[in-house]
Amino acid sequence: MPHTIVFATNNQHKLAEVQALLPQGIALLGLAQMGIHDDIPETGSTLEANALQKARYVYALTQRSCFADDTGLEVEALGNAPGVLSARYAGPQKSSEDNMRKLLHELRGAQSRRARFRTVMALIDDGGREFLFEGEVQGRILEHRHGDGGFGYDPIFQPDGHTATFAQMPLELKNSISHRGRAVQRLVEFIAAHQSGL
Ligand code: IMP
Repeated sequence: MPHTIVFATNNQHKLAEVQALLPQGIALLGLAQMGIHDDIPETGSTLEANALQKARYVYALTQRSCFADDTGLEVEALGNAPGVLSARYAGPQKSSEDNMRKLLHELRGAQSRRARFRTVMALIDDGGREFLFEGEVQGRILEHRHGDGGFGYDPIFQPDGHTATFAQMPLELKNSISHRGRAVQRLVEFIAAHQSGL
């Protein structure tokens, strides 16, 4: 029997991305496949709290090993905002265009444009033990949008050591250096090393 682990996401892209990195014999199930259609609360004030909140919610329903992620853009000159509010920075409609416009506006005349993306993944094993994994990428917020790939804040985020924004990069390159890519890598290494306990 393959081990199954629940990934608390409805995003088929994320599901496929993580599944592709896992050893054979570990099958991921998304929320839809578990018959979970709830709007899972994300009311924490940190990425860690939100990732744990989502994982605990799913664990309580399924009693199975599961994990959840949360990501935010942390901008130095704004005291690490938008952080946990990244998706709804400009309002509940979660528009990337409005979010970028608001961020560029807030940063007018700022001394520093340094920023980082940070992803936290919370894993709960079938005994209820909790583990956190983190990935980050440092960079800066440009003054204008460049590129039309990616999503979210990609057109205005330039990772350190690169002249392109995330929106101008092939997805493979972005995944190899990104916050999410690094967090997933750490999670996957842990799962591979602890397969029998999951
Ligand atoms: P989530 O936790 O993965 O849903 O990410 C929360 C929000 O952070 C998204 O709605 C985006 O606005 C932003 N975000 C997360 N990852 C990225 C990325 O790789 N590029 C650009 N924006 C991102």
